[in-house]
Amino acid sequence: MTMDRVAVRYHEVALKRGNRTALVAQLTRNIMTALEGTGVVGTNRAPGRIILHLSTHNDWCNVRDRLTRVFGIANFLLCERVDGDLDNMIAHIANAAAARPPFASFAVRTKRSDKTYPLPSPEVSARVGKAVQRATGSSVDLDHPEVEIHLEILPREILFSMEKVAGPGGLPIGSGGTVLTLLSGGIDSVVAAHRLLGRGCRVELVHFHSAPYQSRAGLNKALELTRILNRWQPGSRLHAVPFGDTQKQIVAGAPRRARLVLYRRAMMRIAARLAAALEAAALATGDSLGQVASQTLPNLVAIDDAGGLPILRPLIGMDKEEIISHARRIGTYDVSTLSDEDCCQLWVPKHPSTRMTVGAARAAEASLDIDSMAGSALAKAEVFDARSPRDSFSRQNRAPD
Ligand code: ATP
Ligand code: MG
Repeated sequence: MTMDRVAVRYHEVALKRGNRTALVAQLTRNIMTALEGTGVVGTNRAPGRIILHLSTHNDWCNVRDRLTRVFGIANFLLCERVDGDLDNMIAHIANAAAARPPFASFAVRTKRSDKTYPLPSPEVSARVGKAVQRATGSSVDLDHPEVEIHLEILPREILFSMEKVAGPGGLPIGSGGTVLTLLSGGIDSVVAAHRLLGRGCRVELVHFHSAPYQSRAGLNKALELTRILNRWQPGSRLHAVPFGDTQKQIVAGAPRRARLVLYRRAMMRIAARLAAALEAAALATGDSLGQVASQTLPNLVAIDDAGGLPILRPLIGMDKEEIISHARRIGTYDVSTLSDEDCCQLWVPKHPSTRMTVGAARAAEASLDIDSMAGSALAKAEVFDARSPRDSFSRQNRAPD
C-alpha cells in the first residue's frame, strides 16, 4: 500500500448550498491547474471532499506546497487506501505508526461520510487508538496530540493519513467574477488583490507609471508583485499604462492642490475603460481610510465620482499593522518596501488637498479633455503575463534606451 491519495477538504464551499456543485467543479479545475506536472493522474468526489489520485512517481513536496495556495481548500491529507477487513486495517495502521520516529502522544480522528459503515466513528477511533498505543507505547491526547491519525470512511474506500496540511481557506478563484485591481508597487494594493483572490475573484492588475519622467522602478516592483500573486492565481497579468503625459496635462491645466485627486480620478477613468475590455465588473484599490492624506473620506468620494464603476476597497477598515502582517505572510513585503518613485509623487505639492469635494474636483478638471487623455494612455499600455519565462518577462520590461 502506498500514500497515493490526497483528500482535499473544503469548508466555505460546502456551506454554499445553492451553487455548491459549480463551486466544487471550479475548485477541482483550479487544483488541477495548480498541480500541473506534479503527477496527479485523476480525481473523484466524495461527500465534502475531492480525492486526488497521485501516480507512483508523484512529487509530494511540490503537491503539498502548491495546494497550500489554492483558495477554497480548508485542509488536505496525504492518504493511503486501507480497504478490507477491520482487523487487518487496524494492524496496518498500528505498524505504520510504530514505523515513525517515536512520539509521546497522539489522537485518532475518524470522519465517516459513509453512514452505512457498520461501526460509528468513535468506536473506530477507539479501536485504532488502542492498537496504536500497544504498538508504540504512546498515550492518547485528544487536545494537543503530537501526531494525528486520520481515517476517512468514504462510500467506496477508507483512507488513512498521518499528514494533514492547512489550506488557505476562502473561495475558489473564478467563482466570484473579475475585478481589475490598481496595483502600485507599495505594500497595500497587492494585499488588497490577494484578499480579493481569497474571495473567489479573478484579479486583473493595472499599474500606472510615469516613465520616461521617472524611472521604471515602480513598474519593476509591480511586475515582481504580479509574479508573487501568480503563485495563487496562475495566469496573472499586469497591464502597464504610461501615465506621465496625462499628469503633465493635469499639471498644466488644474490647480496645484487638486493634482493628486485629479491623478486618481484620471486613473479611475482609464481603469474603467480597461475593465470594460477585460469584462471586469469592478475596480479595486489598496486604500485604507485615513492612512495618508489622499485617503480621507471626502477625497475617496471625489475619486469614486470619476470611475463609473464600483471601486472595491478590501483594506478600508484595516490598520497598517494588519496589512503589513498579511504582506509578510504572502511574501510581498520585501518587494513592496524596495525604494521606487510612484507616479503619484510626480509634481505633487507637499500638502495636497485632503478635503476635495466632488464639485471642486469636477471644476478643477473642467478644462481638460480627460477622455482623450485616457484613450491615448490606454493605446500605449503593455501587457505582462506572469507565465512567460523570467527572461522575457524582464526583457519586455527593460526601459527603452
Ligand atoms: P499602496 O501601498 O498600495 O501603494 P498607499 O498606501 O501608498 O497604497 P496611495 O499611494 O494613496 O496609497 O494609493 C492608493 C491606491 O491607489 C493604491 O492602493 C493603489 O490601489 C492605487 N495606486 C496608487 N498608485 C498607483 C499606481 N502607480 N498604479 C496603480 N495603482 C496605484
Ligand atoms: Mg503607494
